[in-house]
Amino acid sequence: MYYTCIEIRKVIESMSVDRKKLEALLKWYKQEIGENLIATLIVNREGLVMSALKGAEDTEVEEDVIGGVSALVEPVLTRITEEFSSGSFGTGTFDTEDQRFIFCEAGPEAIFVTVLTSVAMVDPVFPYAYLAAEKIARIFDGRTVSPVIPKLVTEKETKNIERKLDTLQKIKVQSGEYAFKLILGGEGGVGKTSMVHRFVEDSFQTDYKSTIGTSIMKKECDFQGLESKVRFVIWDLAGQAQFKRVRQTYLSNAEAGILVYDVTRKDTFESLENWFKEIRSTSSSISLILVGNKIDLEDNRVVSSNEGESLAEKLNLSYIETSAKTGENINDAFKMLALQMIKRYVFTEEV
Ligand code: GDP
Ligand code: MG
Repeated sequence: MYYTCIEIRKVIESMSVDRKKLEALLKWYKQEIGENLIATLIVNREGLVMSALKGAEDTEVEEDVIGGVSALVEPVLTRITEEFSSGSFGTGTFDTEDQRFIFCEAGPEAIFVTVLTSVAMVDPVFPYAYLAAEKIARIFDGRTVSPVIPKLVTEKETKNIERKLDTLQKIKVQSGEYAFKLILGGEGGVGKTSMVHRFVEDSFQTDYKSTIGTSIMKKECDFQGLESKVRFVIWDLAGQAQFKRVRQTYLSNAEAGILVYDVTRKDTFESLENWFKEIRSTSSSISLILVGNKIDLEDNRVVSSNEGESLAEKLNLSYIETSAKTGENINDAFKMLALQMIKRYVFTEEV
Protein backbone atom coordinates (compact mmCIF):
# COMPACT_ATOMS: atom_id res chain seq x y z
CA MET A 1 0.00 0.00 0.00
CA TYR A 2 2.13 2.85 -1.24
CA TYR A 3 0.59 5.74 -3.10
CA THR A 4 2.18 7.85 -5.79
CA CYS A 5 2.40 11.59 -5.41
CA ILE A 6 -0.30 12.07 -8.00
CA GLU A 7 -2.71 9.84 -6.12
CA ILE A 8 -2.02 11.67 -2.90
CA ARG A 9 -2.45 15.03 -4.54
CA LYS A 10 -5.80 13.91 -5.94
CA VAL A 11 -7.01 12.89 -2.52
CA ILE A 12 -5.93 16.16 -0.99
CA GLU A 13 -7.47 18.25 -3.72
CA SER A 14 -10.72 16.37 -3.62
CA MET A 15 -11.26 17.40 -0.05
CA SER A 16 -13.10 20.54 0.81
CA VAL A 17 -11.73 20.83 4.31
CA ASP A 18 -10.07 23.89 5.72
CA ARG A 19 -6.52 22.77 5.07
CA LYS A 20 -4.92 25.84 6.61
CA LYS A 21 -6.63 25.17 9.89
CA LEU A 22 -5.70 21.51 9.75
CA GLU A 23 -2.06 22.43 9.25
CA ALA A 24 -2.17 25.00 12.04
CA LEU A 25 -3.62 22.38 14.34
CA LEU A 26 -0.91 19.86 13.52
CA LYS A 27 1.72 22.49 14.22
CA TRP A 28 0.23 23.29 17.58
CA TYR A 29 0.06 19.64 18.37
CA LYS A 30 3.68 19.14 17.43
CA GLN A 31 4.69 22.00 19.67
CA GLU A 32 2.92 20.50 22.67
CA ILE A 33 4.27 16.99 22.17
CA GLY A 34 7.87 18.04 21.67
CA GLU A 35 10.89 16.08 20.60
CA ASN A 36 9.46 12.59 20.93
CA LEU A 37 7.12 13.23 18.04
CA ILE A 38 8.24 11.59 14.81
CA ALA A 39 5.19 12.43 12.74
CA THR A 40 1.48 13.04 12.76
CA LEU A 41 -0.90 11.94 10.04
CA ILE A 42 -4.53 12.21 9.19
CA VAL A 43 -5.69 9.12 7.38
CA ASN A 44 -9.01 8.38 5.74
CA ARG A 45 -11.01 5.16 5.93
CA GLU A 46 -9.15 3.62 3.01
CA GLY A 47 -5.80 4.22 4.65
CA LEU A 48 -4.86 7.12 2.40
CA VAL A 49 -2.86 9.79 4.10
CA MET A 50 -4.66 13.11 3.82
CA SER A 51 -2.30 15.31 5.76
CA ALA A 52 1.01 14.80 7.48
CA LEU A 53 3.55 16.69 9.51
CA LYS A 54 7.02 15.49 10.37
CA GLY A 55 8.35 16.11 13.83
CA ALA A 56 11.73 17.34 12.78
CA GLU A 57 10.89 19.74 9.97
CA ASP A 58 8.21 22.23 9.17
CA THR A 59 7.63 21.05 5.63
CA GLU A 60 4.12 19.79 6.06
CA VAL A 61 1.92 18.37 3.32
CA GLU A 62 4.78 18.06 0.87
CA GLU A 63 4.35 14.91 -1.13
CA ASP A 64 7.70 13.51 -0.09
CA VAL A 65 6.86 13.95 3.56
CA ILE A 66 3.56 12.18 3.05
CA GLY A 67 5.24 9.46 1.04
CA GLY A 68 7.93 8.93 3.65
CA VAL A 69 5.52 8.91 6.54
CA SER A 70 3.15 6.60 4.68
CA ALA A 71 5.93 4.07 4.25
CA LEU A 72 6.73 4.36 7.93
CA VAL A 73 3.23 3.57 9.12
CA GLU A 74 2.16 1.34 6.26
CA PRO A 75 2.25 -1.99 8.15
CA VAL A 76 0.24 -0.52 11.00
CA LEU A 77 -2.18 1.40 8.83
CA THR A 78 -3.48 -1.71 7.12
CA ARG A 79 -4.52 -3.11 10.45
CA ILE A 80 -5.89 0.17 11.73
CA THR A 81 -8.10 0.69 8.71
CA GLU A 82 -9.38 -2.86 9.03
CA GLU A 83 -10.39 -2.15 12.61
CA PHE A 84 -11.81 1.16 11.55
CA SER A 85 -14.02 -0.33 8.85
CA SER A 86 -15.43 -2.82 11.35
CA GLY A 87 -17.06 0.14 13.07
CA SER A 88 -16.00 -0.54 16.62
CA PHE A 89 -13.09 1.82 16.61
CA GLY A 90 -12.32 4.54 19.07
CA THR A 91 -8.75 5.17 20.00
CA GLY A 92 -5.83 2.84 20.33
CA THR A 93 -2.14 2.41 20.83
CA PHE A 94 0.31 0.21 19.03
CA ASP A 95 4.02 -0.41 19.52
CA THR A 96 6.65 -1.57 17.08
CA GLU A 97 10.38 -1.97 17.74
CA ASP A 98 11.15 1.61 16.73
CA GLN A 99 7.93 3.54 17.11
CA ARG A 100 4.92 3.93 19.29
CA PHE A 101 1.62 4.80 17.64
CA ILE A 102 -1.48 6.45 18.98
CA PHE A 103 -4.46 6.47 16.69
CA CYS A 104 -7.70 8.27 17.39
CA GLU A 105 -10.90 8.25 15.44
CA ALA A 106 -11.48 11.80 14.22
CA GLY A 107 -15.08 11.84 13.13
CA PRO A 108 -16.63 9.35 10.71
CA GLU A 109 -14.07 9.90 7.98
CA ALA A 110 -10.65 10.19 9.46
CA ILE A 111 -8.13 8.71 11.84
CA PHE A 112 -5.54 10.86 13.53
CA VAL A 113 -2.24 9.02 13.91
CA THR A 114 0.61 10.08 16.17
CA VAL A 115 4.00 8.45 15.69
CA LEU A 116 6.34 8.69 18.67
CA THR A 117 9.85 7.47 19.35
CA SER A 118 10.08 4.13 21.09
CA VAL A 119 11.19 5.77 24.34
CA ALA A 120 8.23 8.16 24.46
CA MET A 121 5.59 7.84 27.13
CA VAL A 122 2.17 7.37 25.62
CA ASP A 123 0.10 8.44 28.60
CA PRO A 124 1.00 12.12 28.69
CA VAL A 125 0.49 12.37 24.93
CA PHE A 126 -2.86 10.67 24.90
CA PRO A 127 -4.99 13.59 26.18
CA TYR A 128 -3.47 15.83 23.50
CA ALA A 129 -4.09 13.27 20.78
CA TYR A 130 -7.64 12.86 21.96
CA LEU A 131 -8.23 16.61 21.94
CA ALA A 132 -6.60 17.06 18.54
CA ALA A 133 -8.74 14.27 17.08
CA GLU A 134 -11.89 15.96 18.33
CA LYS A 135 -10.80 19.20 16.73
CA ILE A 136 -9.94 17.48 13.47
CA ALA A 137 -13.40 15.92 13.40
CA ARG A 138 -14.88 19.41 13.75
CA ILE A 139 -12.71 20.79 10.96
CA PHE A 140 -13.89 17.99 8.67
CA ASP A 141 -17.47 18.81 9.62
CA GLY A 142 -16.94 22.42 8.66
CA ARG A 143 -17.70 23.53 12.18
CA THR A 144 -15.84 26.39 13.78
CA VAL A 145 -12.96 25.35 15.95
CA SER A 146 -9.80 26.91 17.23
CA PRO A 147 -6.65 25.17 16.01
CA VAL A 148 -4.95 25.94 19.29
CA ILE A 149 -4.05 22.95 21.42
CA PRO A 150 -3.98 24.22 24.98
CA LYS A 151 -1.46 23.02 27.49
CA LEU A 152 -3.09 20.31 29.54
CA VAL A 153 -2.28 19.64 33.14
CA THR A 154 0.76 17.42 33.35
CA GLU A 155 2.04 15.38 36.19
CA LYS A 156 5.11 17.53 36.73
CA GLU A 157 3.15 20.69 37.28
CA THR A 158 0.78 19.14 39.76
CA LYS A 159 3.22 17.16 41.85
CA ASN A 160 2.73 19.29 44.91
CA ILE A 161 -1.00 18.97 45.02
CA GLU A 162 -1.83 15.43 45.90
CA ARG A 163 -5.37 15.35 44.65
CA LYS A 164 -4.44 17.06 41.41
CA LEU A 165 -1.91 14.34 40.70
CA ASP A 166 -4.87 12.25 39.68
CA THR A 167 -5.91 14.64 36.96
CA LEU A 168 -3.38 13.58 34.36
CA GLN A 169 -5.93 11.59 32.42
CA LYS A 170 -8.84 13.74 33.44
CA ILE A 171 -9.55 16.04 30.58
CA LYS A 172 -12.02 18.68 31.53
CA VAL A 173 -13.91 18.84 28.27
CA GLN A 174 -16.56 21.31 29.36
CA SER A 175 -17.52 22.47 32.76
CA GLY A 176 -19.36 19.67 34.47
CA GLU A 177 -17.94 17.08 32.13
CA TYR A 178 -15.05 14.90 33.18
CA ALA A 179 -13.05 12.24 31.44
CA PHE A 180 -11.40 9.46 33.39
CA LYS A 181 -9.16 6.67 32.29
CA LEU A 182 -10.82 3.37 33.10
CA ILE A 183 -9.01 0.05 32.97
CA LEU A 184 -10.10 -3.55 33.43
CA GLY A 185 -8.29 -6.18 35.44
CA GLY A 186 -8.82 -9.93 35.60
CA GLU A 187 -7.81 -13.12 33.83
CA GLY A 188 -8.34 -13.73 30.13
CA GLY A 189 -11.78 -14.94 29.16
CA VAL A 190 -13.69 -13.58 32.15
CA GLY A 191 -15.62 -11.20 29.91
CA LYS A 192 -13.85 -7.84 30.18
CA THR A 193 -14.10 -6.99 26.50
CA SER A 194 -17.68 -8.25 26.41
CA MET A 195 -18.62 -6.00 29.31
CA VAL A 196 -17.12 -2.97 27.60
CA HIS A 197 -18.92 -3.69 24.34
CA ARG A 198 -22.19 -4.24 26.14
CA PHE A 199 -21.76 -0.97 27.96
CA VAL A 200 -20.50 1.11 25.05
CA GLU A 201 -22.63 -0.16 22.20
CA ASP A 202 -25.11 -2.48 23.89
CA SER A 203 -24.08 -5.50 21.88
CA PHE A 204 -22.77 -8.96 22.61
CA GLN A 205 -20.79 -11.20 20.32
CA THR A 206 -19.69 -14.68 21.15
CA ASP A 207 -16.56 -14.32 19.10
CA TYR A 208 -14.52 -11.14 19.32
CA LYS A 209 -11.56 -10.72 17.08
CA SER A 210 -8.80 -9.51 19.31
CA THR A 211 -8.17 -5.83 19.04
CA ILE A 212 -4.76 -4.53 18.12
CA GLY A 213 -2.78 -3.36 21.11
CA THR A 214 -5.02 -1.46 23.41
CA SER A 215 -8.40 -0.47 22.17
CA ILE A 216 -9.76 2.65 23.72
CA MET A 217 -13.41 3.62 23.74
CA LYS A 218 -15.27 6.48 25.27
CA LYS A 219 -18.68 6.51 26.83
CA GLU A 220 -20.54 9.01 28.91
CA CYS A 221 -22.58 8.44 32.02
CA ASP A 222 -25.30 10.93 32.80
CA PHE A 223 -27.16 11.15 36.01
CA GLN A 224 -30.62 12.53 36.38
CA GLY A 225 -30.71 15.57 38.56
CA LEU A 226 -26.94 15.93 38.47
CA GLU A 227 -25.22 18.44 36.30
CA SER A 228 -22.00 16.50 36.15
CA LYS A 229 -21.34 14.01 33.42
CA VAL A 230 -18.69 11.36 33.62
CA ARG A 231 -16.95 10.36 30.46
CA PHE A 232 -15.02 7.14 30.72
CA VAL A 233 -12.10 6.63 28.41
CA ILE A 234 -12.02 2.86 28.61
CA TRP A 235 -8.74 1.13 27.87
CA ASP A 236 -9.23 -2.49 26.96
CA LEU A 237 -6.03 -4.46 26.72
CA ALA A 238 -5.98 -7.24 24.13
CA GLY A 239 -4.35 -10.60 24.74
CA GLN A 240 -0.83 -9.34 25.35
CA ALA A 241 -1.21 -8.71 29.08
CA GLN A 242 1.84 -10.91 29.64
CA PHE A 243 4.15 -8.14 28.47
CA LYS A 244 5.16 -6.10 31.45
CA ARG A 245 5.86 -2.94 29.45
CA VAL A 246 2.44 -2.96 27.84
CA ARG A 247 0.79 -3.63 31.15
CA GLN A 248 2.58 -0.78 32.89
CA THR A 249 1.43 1.76 30.30
CA TYR A 250 -2.01 0.29 30.40
CA LEU A 251 -2.36 0.42 34.16
CA SER A 252 -0.60 3.67 34.86
CA ASN A 253 -2.48 6.87 35.57
CA ALA A 254 -5.80 5.12 35.58
CA GLU A 255 -8.40 6.70 37.78
CA ALA A 256 -11.06 4.05 37.60
CA GLY A 257 -10.89 0.31 37.30
CA ILE A 258 -13.06 -2.77 37.21
CA LEU A 259 -11.78 -6.05 38.58
CA VAL A 260 -13.60 -8.86 36.83
CA TYR A 261 -13.83 -12.57 37.51
CA ASP A 262 -15.93 -15.33 35.99
CA VAL A 263 -18.37 -16.89 38.49
CA THR A 264 -17.96 -20.23 36.69
CA ARG A 265 -14.17 -20.34 37.07
CA LYS A 266 -12.66 -20.48 40.53
CA ASP A 267 -9.12 -19.71 39.33
CA THR A 268 -10.25 -16.34 37.95
CA PHE A 269 -11.62 -15.49 41.39
CA GLU A 270 -8.50 -16.62 43.19
CA SER A 271 -6.16 -14.54 41.05
CA LEU A 272 -8.03 -11.30 41.70
CA GLU A 273 -6.02 -10.31 44.74
CA ASN A 274 -2.89 -10.30 42.59
CA TRP A 275 -4.58 -8.10 40.04
CA PHE A 276 -5.69 -5.84 42.84
CA LYS A 277 -2.15 -5.53 44.17
CA GLU A 278 -0.59 -4.85 40.79
CA ILE A 279 -3.17 -2.23 39.86
CA ARG A 280 -2.93 -0.49 43.21
CA SER A 281 0.85 -0.49 43.10
CA THR A 282 0.77 1.15 39.67
CA SER A 283 -2.11 3.56 40.25
CA SER A 284 -2.28 3.91 44.00
CA SER A 285 -5.32 6.13 44.21
CA ILE A 286 -7.46 4.38 41.61
CA SER A 287 -11.17 3.83 42.36
CA LEU A 288 -12.02 0.17 41.88
CA ILE A 289 -15.08 -2.01 41.91
CA LEU A 290 -15.35 -5.80 41.93
CA VAL A 291 -17.51 -7.61 39.38
CA GLY A 292 -18.55 -11.26 39.19
CA ASN A 293 -19.50 -11.83 35.54
CA LYS A 294 -21.38 -14.58 33.61
CA ILE A 295 -24.21 -15.00 36.12
CA ASP A 296 -26.41 -16.18 33.22
CA LEU A 297 -24.54 -19.51 33.43
CA GLU A 298 -26.35 -20.45 36.62
CA ASP A 299 -25.75 -24.19 36.39
CA ASN A 300 -22.02 -23.77 36.05
CA ARG A 301 -21.57 -21.36 38.89
CA VAL A 302 -18.79 -22.24 41.32
CA VAL A 303 -18.22 -18.93 43.13
CA SER A 304 -21.15 -17.91 45.31
CA SER A 305 -22.41 -14.38 45.83
CA ASN A 306 -21.29 -14.64 49.44
CA GLU A 307 -17.74 -15.39 48.45
CA GLY A 308 -17.75 -12.42 46.07
CA GLU A 309 -19.09 -10.14 48.77
CA SER A 310 -16.52 -11.29 51.32
CA LEU A 311 -13.65 -10.58 48.94
CA ALA A 312 -15.09 -7.16 48.18
CA GLU A 313 -15.34 -6.44 51.87
CA LYS A 314 -11.79 -7.57 52.45
CA LEU A 315 -10.47 -5.31 49.66
CA ASN A 316 -12.87 -2.53 50.63
CA LEU A 317 -14.58 -2.40 47.24
CA SER A 318 -18.15 -2.23 45.99
CA TYR A 319 -19.40 -5.47 44.50
CA ILE A 320 -21.85 -6.24 41.73
CA GLU A 321 -22.73 -9.34 39.68
CA THR A 322 -23.29 -9.06 35.95
CA SER A 323 -23.90 -10.83 32.67
CA ALA A 324 -22.42 -9.25 29.58
CA LYS A 325 -24.47 -11.77 27.61
CA THR A 326 -27.90 -10.71 28.86
CA GLY A 327 -26.77 -7.22 29.82
CA GLU A 328 -27.89 -7.66 33.40
CA ASN A 329 -26.34 -5.03 35.71
CA ILE A 330 -23.72 -3.95 33.17
CA ASN A 331 -24.86 -0.34 33.08
CA ASP A 332 -25.20 -0.34 36.83
CA ALA A 333 -21.65 -1.54 37.28
CA PHE A 334 -20.28 1.36 35.25
CA LYS A 335 -22.67 3.80 36.89
CA MET A 336 -21.61 2.64 40.30
CA LEU A 337 -18.06 3.44 39.37
CA ALA A 338 -19.05 6.75 37.75
CA LEU A 339 -20.75 7.79 40.96
CA GLN A 340 -17.62 7.01 42.92
CA MET A 341 -15.72 9.25 40.50
CA ILE A 342 -18.21 12.07 40.87
CA LYS A 343 -18.11 11.84 44.63
CA ARG A 344 -14.39 11.84 44.65
CA TYR A 345 -13.37 14.34 42.00
CA VAL A 346 -16.29 16.56 41.21
CA PHE A 347 -17.46 17.29 44.68
CA THR A 348 -14.06 17.43 46.32
CA GLU A 349 -12.81 19.82 43.66
CA GLU A 350 -15.39 22.40 44.58
CA VAL A 351 -14.37 22.40 48.23
P1 GDP B 1 -11.81 -11.09 28.22
O1 GDP B 1 -10.66 -11.93 27.80
O2 GDP B 1 -11.87 -10.93 29.70
O3 GDP B 1 -11.88 -9.78 27.49
O4 GDP B 1 -13.14 -11.90 27.83
P2 GDP B 1 -14.09 -11.77 26.55
O5 GDP B 1 -14.97 -10.58 26.68
O6 GDP B 1 -13.29 -11.89 25.33
O7 GDP B 1 -15.04 -13.04 26.76
C1 GDP B 1 -14.52 -14.35 26.78
C2 GDP B 1 -15.63 -15.31 26.40
O8 GDP B 1 -16.66 -15.31 27.39
C3 GDP B 1 -16.32 -14.97 25.09
O9 GDP B 1 -16.58 -16.13 24.40
C4 GDP B 1 -17.60 -14.29 25.53
O10 GDP B 1 -18.61 -14.45 24.57
C5 GDP B 1 -17.93 -15.01 26.81
N1 GDP B 1 -18.66 -14.18 27.77
C6 GDP B 1 -18.34 -12.94 28.19
N2 GDP B 1 -19.23 -12.50 29.08
C7 GDP B 1 -20.16 -13.45 29.22
C8 GDP B 1 -21.36 -13.59 30.02
O11 GDP B 1 -21.77 -12.71 30.78
N3 GDP B 1 -22.05 -14.76 29.90
C9 GDP B 1 -21.64 -15.75 29.06
N4 GDP B 1 -22.40 -16.85 29.01
N5 GDP B 1 -20.52 -15.67 28.31
C10 GDP B 1 -19.80 -14.54 28.38
MG1 MG C 1 -10.50 -8.93 26.11
